[in-house]
Amino acid sequence: MDSSGTAFQISGIRVAAGETREIYLKVSESFLANSILIPVTVIRGVKPGPTAYVTAAIHGDEINGVDIVRRLIFDLDHENLAGTLIAIPVVNIPGFVSQSRYLPYHRDLNRFFPGTRSGNNAERVAWRLFQEVVRHCDFGIDLHTAAEGRKNLPHVRADMSDARCRALARSFGSRVIIDQKGPKGSLRREATDAGVPTILFEAGETRRFSTSVSLEGLRGVLTVLEAQGMWTAKRKAKKPPFQVIVKNSHWIRATQGGILNLEVRPGELVYRGDEVGSLLNPFGRMVTRLRSPVTGIVVGVTTQPLAVPGTGLVHVARLKKTLSRVEKEVRARVARKSRLKTGRKAP
Ligand SMILES: [Zn+2]
Repeated sequence: MDSSGTAFQISGIRVAAGETREIYLKVSESFLANSILIPVTVIRGVKPGPTAYVTAAIHGDEINGVDIVRRLIFDLDHENLAGTLIAIPVVNIPGFVSQSRYLPYHRDLNRFFPGTRSGNNAERVAWRLFQEVVRHCDFGIDLHTAAEGRKNLPHVRADMSDARCRALARSFGSRVIIDQKGPKGSLRREATDAGVPTILFEAGETRRFSTSVSLEGLRGVLTVLEAQGMWTAKRKAKKPPFQVIVKNSHWIRATQGGILNLEVRPGELVYRGDEVGSLLNPFGRMVTRLRSPVTGIVVGVTTQPLAVPGTGLVHVARLKKTLSRVEKEVRARVARKSRLKTGRKAP
């Protein structure tokens, strides 16, 4: 939807070309009878172009995206923006205030899109956001972090069978793309089904900011905007050393209960049969060694030290064709790190 020429409006507030407006979108009310308002920044470029949304904290405790959206709004000069950027740093206001994933009544907002006008509390919030923002856009990026108790390698999730999502995901430039439609009722799946292709960026941990995650997220959003003709970067973005599209991933789960001693981190390579950690009993004796049944790159780990049979510990994306490229890059990275530690110069 090319928004050039016509006034763009959200919640009845018009935004002219070249204008930036901060709008509060009422989506619900609290137990105190106050309005629940989502802060929406609409940045309209002077030049015509597509309309895009970037959302964060649909899960209220996943706050890394809040920092990415803040940087998107404040750290950039939007003079050369083409089209309209709708930046929403916090979608789930009650969850953000209480630092919880959920809306009241333990409802996960990201399972209730596109919502309904007269449904339950989550459906109503979803409906307002979908009607007022999402359906006016050409594409979107939804920012998340790993769920509580997990840490992820920054990655994109997208439905790679959809050509528009595939183009967005590829241009984001993350090393790992997980090829999934997303759960029913999630914003990215329902928006894509409604004709607004949407991808998800997932990185870091709940309730934390990480500068490296923020910078990677911001860079990714900007390269997507650039690929869609909305943004011109001063410097050409570096291509990732590899880009793995993961259809097939495997959770290494605890086979017994115990105290976890994990020996791998996100971004590391594991080979079939490699030891990834062990489980100890309260006396500190080894209960079992944990081995990876697959070869691949670690995309997520638990951050919790305790496990029972079935606890997901290490999430491995299987690698086949791309294994040698990933090996080369991982080896180069390890060598760089050890040079830094020992102070030796590169040969
Ligand atoms: Zn999330």
